[in-house]
Amino acid sequence: MQDQILVTRSSMPGFEEYIEEIRSMWDSRWLTNMGPKHREFQEKLKEYLGVENIDLLTNGHMALELTLQAMNLQGEVITTPFTFASTTHAIVRNGLTPVFCDINPDDFTMDVEKLESLITDYTCAILPVHVYGNICNIEEIERIARKYELKVIYDAAHTFGETYKGRGIGSFGDASCFSFHATKVFNSLEGGAVCYRDQGFGNAIYELKNFGIHGPEEVSAVGANAKMNEFCAAMGLCNLRHVEEEIGKRKKAAERYRSHLEGIEGLQLNAVQKDVKQNYAYFPVVFEEKAFGASREEVFERLAENGIGARKYFYPLTNTFSCFHRKYDVRETPVALHVSRRVLTLPMYADLALEDVDRICGIILGCRK
Ligand SMILES: *Cc1c(COP(=O)(O)O)cnc(C)c1O
Repeated sequence: MQDQILVTRSSMPGFEEYIEEIRSMWDSRWLTNMGPKHREFQEKLKEYLGVENIDLLTNGHMALELTLQAMNLQGEVITTPFTFASTTHAIVRNGLTPVFCDINPDDFTMDVEKLESLITDYTCAILPVHVYGNICNIEEIERIARKYELKVIYDAAHTFGETYKGRGIGSFGDASCFSFHATKVFNSLEGGAVCYRDQGFGNAIYELKNFGIHGPEEVSAVGANAKMNEFCAAMGLCNLRHVEEEIGKRKKAAERYRSHLEGIEGLQLNAVQKDVKQNYAYFPVVFEEKAFGASREEVFERLAENGIGARKYFYPLTNTFSCFHRKYDVRETPVALHVSRRVLTLPMYADLALEDVDRICGIILGCRK
């Protein structure tokens, strides 16, 4: 029996490096509430991500949720269902109504051709997802947003370190929300951040992540507790020193996958986008059963039998979740439905051995009847 290969494996610095980073906390006893690690991590991130403004949060979900709250939105938010639960939940938990736009068949981001027809008098914002690290059609989304005076909030959880036309991906839209969860390209154990344009928004987020406390004797908003603690910030500082190298290793794994799977009939690989510096966050493959000779389910099972964890990511679509009690009609997003029933993300992480990629591809190709 060979070793198990999970779909992801967290990047970590050397043990000693982390210990060195947290040593000062035993003197300062400053463990959370925007301490020195938090401040340093924030500054370093600003530089690495190429953004003007950023605030740190406990996780990517709270970044999304508090961003929507800070914007004082009401009504409908146009988004896509081909994403992690967090995106849709952030909308619904703010008392807003998600309106689902379909996705492109090649890069799985919002289909902007279908966007304008979904805008109503109640639309207040667009929340597109740079899914798998694929960049949305930013120009078109921002043109439409300007025309109808809508806010644009990007779910940038998959795009850490990416640039579009040389610009940090977090610098687009009114706000972009990142996740530093353990399973992402870059982690701070758990963590997240919002990059934003407007200073007033920045003040609001800063207060909302600390219960809406405005001053020692004033609480001016119904906030939450979403402050990043010092241990997480310290992990972020360590991982940030190695992230370029980690992305470089992911690139090698992605190229190896492509060398086996590119051009195989019935397999659709992720689009390679122009003008994008990629981070190789995921390696999704869409299986067209007839043309390939095996279904997504068969491949998933065969990989599992061999101790290899692929993920049906993103399946099911968020607009079919049982918590929404059939409120949304999945037939309105047929492309998303098609892809979600056929896609698998294959194991992808910096330490993935190229020989393991060979073995995984061998198993996949061996599923063909
Ligand atoms: C991971 C993720 C989130 C949430 O981030 P957390 O840090 O886990 O809270 C939001 N959106 C997408 C698309 C994600 O993949």
